[in-house]
Amino acid sequence: MHRPIVYLVGAGPGDPGLLTLRGRECLEAADFVLYDQLVSSQILRFAPPHAELMCVRELASNHPDRWPQIHVKLIEEARLGKCVVRLKGGDPLIFGRGGEEADALREAGIPYEIVPGVTAALAAGSYLEIPLTHRTHSSAVALITGHEHPGKPHSKLDWKAIAAFPGTLVIYMGFSRLSSIVPELIRYGKSPDTPAISVMRASCGEQLSVQATLGTIEQDIIAAGLTTPALLMVGPVVGLKPAKSWFEKRPLLGKRVLVTRPRKQALDFVHQLELRGAIAVTLPVIDIRPPADWSAVDLAQEPLAQEGFDWLVFSSANGVEHFFDRLHSRGRDARSLGRTRIAVVGSATAAKLAEYHLRADVAPDGAMNSELLIEELHERARGKRILLALAAEARDLLREQLSVVATVTSVVVYRQQNVLKPDHSAFDRLRRGEIDCVTLTSPNIALAFLEALDETIRGRIERGEIQLAANSERCATVIRRAQLPVSIVAEEPTNSGMLNAICLAVRPTA
Ligand code: SAH
Repeated sequence: MHRPIVYLVGAGPGDPGLLTLRGRECLEAADFVLYDQLVSSQILRFAPPHAELMCVRELASNHPDRWPQIHVKLIEEARLGKCVVRLKGGDPLIFGRGGEEADALREAGIPYEIVPGVTAALAAGSYLEIPLTHRTHSSAVALITGHEHPGKPHSKLDWKAIAAFPGTLVIYMGFSRLSSIVPELIRYGKSPDTPAISVMRASCGEQLSVQATLGTIEQDIIAAGLTTPALLMVGPVVGLKPAKSWFEKRPLLGKRVLVTRPRKQALDFVHQLELRGAIAVTLPVIDIRPPADWSAVDLAQEPLAQEGFDWLVFSSANGVEHFFDRLHSRGRDARSLGRTRIAVVGSATAAKLAEYHLRADVAPDGAMNSELLIEELHERARGKRILLALAAEARDLLREQLSVVATVTSVVVYRQQNVLKPDHSAFDRLRRGEIDCVTLTSPNIALAFLEALDETIRGRIERGEIQLAANSERCATVIRRAQLPVSIVAEEPTNSGMLNAICLAVRPTA
């Protein structure tokens, strides 16, 4: 990529999966990103760690739209020799003033490229299952701004022509002016019986729509409590919408699920929740850190190749990752393990091991897998030397039970640090009843989370307004000991076990 340069990139309508590959490539090369407020944090993640991220909201401005400041900032940053990404909602050139930003860059002599994005109208069409064009019903689509007050003398829009337009109308930014737009369309001859739909946050977990006719849509929007960003679609194609679109059938649509896993491990879980329609809110409770001292691990990794351990046991994916990362950082590789056999607890641990091209010799799956592992090793590792690679906070079960039959050395390969901030905004959301379900994925996480709760939140949990989901019976026990009800217990302590249990248990939206 050439520098300096500015990329005007369309981030799409909300669902992070709708960013283009080219858009992602630009973000990955960015030094500075200036993004619109509604752009998903999932998309911002593609920027490299060194990149500075700034929301347009942060630009000081007397101008309500902050436009002059946006132009100045883009030019300033580019002149510093940076690769700048201007990340805009939807498509940069559809009601996004991307054209004006490009003009400013051209005048300043800054090279730029434009990367299109999925505009809100197209997302609304797909996610509501309304074909914007249809061979029988509509051969044209008009994208219209509702920002201009109809009837005002300076309005550039000819509402008479719009009312007569032979196709689908999609009105952006019209929310505050519905009370003049709708009567205007009817006054110029559009039938009040024309099917109409309004949708807010199309393609996101918050997506909500009301379907009516042009004559009644306004009161229905108010009754349903729709807010911006939303658009209005008018035309016979709206009548083709199935009762529930494919997106509206997602099992967790609109459910607000709190994810308490460590930041790095939350990513996949959040993605899986969003694919099921949920709105994932993250609240990292613990973080995974390296051990305070590696010397015991280094020592244990030394003799593996020579006289070695007969068995190496991992009880978590984190354990596998930290063990091998340390081995690799010291210039070695998996051959250091020699003929050592490997036993793991849980399918996620086995999957992590496979990333290092190793297969576990023993890998009991499902609930109670530590107990199953102990049983199996009691037979196979009798009299042998076992190395346990564990978390500092691991319970003693494995060590105690395996020591009965074998010589056990246990080393700490990572530790869990409580990083819960009691002033995190997620607690306000819990207090206000804006979270439906809290996922707790280890006894340590559950303990730390429960300790931070106040009476208001506990009350909501007790009344079932917030459901607690535990990934194992052990985790559920911790919750019950804190005198709180557990609504959901996963059959197996994995992401998919958790997701299945939540989908089965979470009450469907009325
Ligand atoms: N460039 C953007 C539009 C910016 S104007 C695009 O191409 O989509 C902002 C307006 O777009 C909002 O007022 C709303 O009418 C519409 N909009 C943006 N995202 C939306 C979404 N996810 N669902 C419904 N309408 C949306």
